[in-house]
Amino acid sequence: MLRGFSEMGAPLVFKVCAMCYTKKPISLFRPAKGYRNGIFFRCRQCESDTSTAWYHRNKERAKAQRRAFKKEHPELEYQRTKSWRALQEALPDVNFAEHITQSYCQGYVSIITDPK
Ligand SMILES: [Zn+2]
Repeated sequence: MLRGFSEMGAPLVFKVCAMCYTKKPISLFRPAKGYRNGIFFRCRQCESDTSTAWYHRNKERAKAQRRAFKKEHPELEYQRTKSWRALQEALPDVNFAEHITQSYCQGYVSIITDPK
């Protein structure tokens, strides 16, 4: 199934978020392999809210996971820091929160979907 196309083959422009039930443009959903139409079922805002809430409930666990991830993927961590710095220098007015979330999610997605 091609990303961004509905079952009928027509371009999928909007999607209803499974969490806030709001109809939003697909650009507000992240791509996710293995999901229907290749798009995640929750919008980015809901994902962000959910993970923030989870983080506040599980701070110690989150920190431990983060440490374990860094240890296991030092090269990814390095890449992430490097691209973040480059972005910061190149675009001082950019919305960092959004970019970090996007690249961070993509990093995790590629690890989950393409284990090497
Ligand atoms: Zn939502």
